[in-house]
Amino acid sequence: MFPIWSSPHRASGIKPSWRSGFISLLFPGKCPFCLTLSNSQGQEIPGLCPACEKDIHWLLPPWCPRCGRPFPKGSTSHLCSDCLQEKLAYDWGRAAAIYQGVLAQAIQRFKYQGEVNLAGPLGWFWNKVKFEELSFEAIIPVPLHPTRLRERGFNQALLLGKTLGKIHKKPVLSGALRRIRNTIPQVQLDHSEREKNVRGAFAVRNQQEIMDKRLLLVDDVFTTGATVNECARVLKKSGAGEIIILTLARVGEE
Ligand SMILES: [Zn+2]
Ligand SMILES: [Zn+2]
Repeated sequence: MFPIWSSPHRASGIKPSWRSGFISLLFPGKCPFCLTLSNSQGQEIPGLCPACEKDIHWLLPPWCPRCGRPFPKGSTSHLCSDCLQEKLAYDWGRAAAIYQGVLAQAIQRFKYQGEVNLAGPLGWFWNKVKFEELSFEAIIPVPLHPTRLRERGFNQALLLGKTLGKIHKKPVLSGALRRIRNTIPQVQLDHSEREKNVRGAFAVRNQQEIMDKRLLLVDDVFTTGATVNECARVLKKSGAGEIIILTLARVGEE
């Protein structure tokens, strides 16, 4: 019922020759994460050196098959309490990896230091999804409020969504959803405050664009999921068919 990730060394449907061409164009020998010159590359992410790739904790089962919440090793996959109580507005969700180590550092450099070239290698983290099982129709990035967009100069979710759109030849509906209230950064808040903070913060701009569609909602980091859940709630209310959440990294829970 729920798609799973490819195993770590499984081909993803993207041809290796295409991949390596893409790699050498973008990263001539320099690892985009640690910036050291490397003659060898890891198996999964174009251009990443083996040391950085080894530091990635891919999100694999055991997990909640619906929302992708990771469970400790040795347990079995099962629906989490939120999913059992049907608290979530989206249909299912996955993150590529745990938010830690070199990946967390790269996301921070990408987001807060304006290293937008990282959108390429970061977007490849989703290459592990079995996209052939998704058959999604369009990508919606979590929008930023115009004020925040002016400050940052770019929307990280949009850049990641564009990488994904290029790889899978799917449209990115960058204007379908907008943030109508400039919320305070979620990072300063606890779980219930986060939900309140984003409530009513989003609106659908063009209902026709999303009506009955199977949509991928993308963002960089999944912490409590309050933001993506609120986006999903609004999209569903406006007639979206199915909402799948894809984030790069999920803050680990023990
Ligand atoms: Zn590296
Ligand atoms: Zn769950």
